[in-house]
Amino acid sequence: MARFSPERAVSREKRIKYTSTLGAHKASGVTIKSARELDHMREAGRVVAVAKSSLLDLIEPGITTGELDRIAEKEIRTLGAIPSFKGLYGFPATICTSLNEQIVHGIPSKRTLKSGDILSIDIGAIVGGFHSDSAFTVGVGKITAEQQRLIDDTRESLRLAIEQARPGSRVGDISSAVQGYAEARGYGVVRQYVGHGIGRDLHEEPQVPNCGVAGRGPLLRDGMTIAIEPMLNLGTWETSLLDDGWTVVTADGALSAHFEDTVAITKSGAEVLSAP
Ligand code: MG
Ligand code: MG
Repeated sequence: MARFSPERAVSREKRIKYTSTLGAHKASGVTIKSARELDHMREAGRVVAVAKSSLLDLIEPGITTGELDRIAEKEIRTLGAIPSFKGLYGFPATICTSLNEQIVHGIPSKRTLKSGDILSIDIGAIVGGFHSDSAFTVGVGKITAEQQRLIDDTRESLRLAIEQARPGSRVGDISSAVQGYAEARGYGVVRQYVGHGIGRDLHEEPQVPNCGVAGRGPLLRDGMTIAIEPMLNLGTWETSLLDDGWTVVTADGALSAHFEDTVAITKSGAEVLSAP
């Protein structure tokens, strides 16, 4: 989720100046979670993990993204949680469903999935007032080896980034892990939308870009919780926004994949909260 504040971009290439598209929705500062707060976030993460797994079982040619959205909302509420995205900044649905060249923030609709699509689902839930935020990309029906490689490499870039998430590291270590891995394989790494701190607010400080320099940026401390979310493209890293005001697509129409997990920084390293 993002076109708002935390996911503004760092584009060193273009020297785009940060502008807040968010107005009143300014992101909260860096927060350190108490043990009790972390427990809420673990539970929110568990809900997200269960809902993701249900969705994965349903993704096949013939189902619409709108049906997936209704099922996700029902599942989240049945588990005693609240969807994070619905109504946030005016977003109309529980999940974001972004197909093929769509990167993030696709709106669920009557669009039917077909074999050969790749679908990114972004999903968040609130428990005890605390959010968890996660995303994955999956092939629909039969996809090509190139599509599968994009998906696998994006997942791997998230894994490498999570390895950097420990007390004493800096946000730039995470950013650099994604960028180094992805660019060495020829992918465009999306700059205009970034990961973020997360807690009582879906989007808190610090921003967690997917491009950056190791050793730079905000220090990671025990008790911080962040959402790390690489978005890799088969072509250019540049993006465009569709007329619906939400859906972000690759500027050249090439395919894109997105993986995200909510992670707690603990003394023993990264604890992934949004995975089973
Ligand atoms: Mg996020
Ligand atoms: Mg997300």
